[in-house]
Amino acid sequence: MKVFKFGGASVKDADAVRNVGKVMQLYPNEEIVVVVSAMGKTTNALEKITQEYLSKDAGLTASVADLKAYHQQILECLFPDEKHPIYDQVNNVLVELDWIVEEEPINEFDFEYDQIVSLGEMISTKIVSAWLTESGISNTWIDVRDLIKTDNTYREAQVDWASTALGVTKMMPSVFNGGNGKVAVTQGFIGVTSENYSTTLGREGSDYTASILGSILGAEDVTIWKDVPGVLNADPKWFKDTEKLEALSYHDAIELAFFGATVIHPKTLKPLQNNGIPLLVRSFFDPEQEGTLITGLKKLPKDLKTVPSFIFKINQVLISILPRDYSFIVEENLSDIFKEFAQRGVKINLMQHAALSFSVCVDADAMKVPDLIKELGNDYKVLYNENVELVTIRDYDQATIDRVVTRKKIYVEQKTRQTARFVVRDL
Ligand code: ASP
Ligand code: MG
Repeated sequence: MKVFKFGGASVKDADAVRNVGKVMQLYPNEEIVVVVSAMGKTTNALEKITQEYLSKDAGLTASVADLKAYHQQILECLFPDEKHPIYDQVNNVLVELDWIVEEEPINEFDFEYDQIVSLGEMISTKIVSAWLTESGISNTWIDVRDLIKTDNTYREAQVDWASTALGVTKMMPSVFNGGNGKVAVTQGFIGVTSENYSTTLGREGSDYTASILGSILGAEDVTIWKDVPGVLNADPKWFKDTEKLEALSYHDAIELAFFGATVIHPKTLKPLQNNGIPLLVRSFFDPEQEGTLITGLKKLPKDLKTVPSFIFKINQVLISILPRDYSFIVEENLSDIFKEFAQRGVKINLMQHAALSFSVCVDADAMKVPDLIKELGNDYKVLYNENVELVTIRDYDQATIDRVVTRKKIYVEQKTRQTARFVVRDL
């Protein structure tokens, strides 16, 4: 049994949905759970609708109309017969949205957000399921809220693993053996509370859904179909000649994410790692290609060549904190300093401790950093450099270092056996 996840970009228009069908056709007779995100930028659109609804913004009507028109247009391309039952199915979900926004808002934002935003995945899965049926892939549409049980932390719901496992193991075998083909189509990103309210698992949560289902079902693997050939060794935004990584360990993937690469969220990787289930990142444009394999260290190909990976974080501030009286920075100072960072939710991307100073590199968050600097200035001498970049190279060598630091002024340099990190600015 396999789990496939198709993200927003892979279902952003009619052609993309057709392409999902083509990918599925490469896997006849496989048991597959297909996890689908909302189409294109639908989640953003629904976020805006939620805001407009709660603030009684006059733009609400137009935003709802746009959302309907977007899906309607995809439907018309895919299903020329306007009597096709999918029209009613999608309409039923959209009517739910109408009902919500016609009522006076009484509940708090996060609750309303989840009731509204979760509808994006309800629509997309209906459409994908109907399209697969249309293209000869019989399948069962599943409401994931029968499976993924959560607490009521709306917008960031925590999965109740025990009752989720119970539901999944009870329901899924009958889906696969129920005579409606071997494919199940369900929603990413959403869950349900014990009181039957919809929840969401946090933005980009569909990967996590695939991982939860794959782990509980003991899938042979979980595949995330993306618009890139796999996990790349650098963000193509910064590097022209990126290379695809053939394979990497869960540990490496988690580290890359920690250093700032937008690979796969550790939350998604953890359940797979715990259950030894490989994760594949593959291109939906090029489904014959292998993509990137993320698996346990021992299962990596023996002849795997190490490719240096580059992670750039731009828009950083390097803050140096020094005691006013030239005394050493000792544990008491550090605990004060860390407390300030933690209380303000300023995440430290890199730190360096010297005899008379302590330096940190943080994201230049205009809402948080200036206040923090001011506060620290009451007790310490504080110097800072704005507009610096933090570059991390995994599996570095001198050539790769030269490549990123030439014509840059280096403020901080840190090396371990595997990782080199630099705080730099253009000369
Ligand atoms: N549709 C949700 C989002 O855009 C979940 C996902 O795509 O993973 O965040
Ligand atoms: Mg996504």
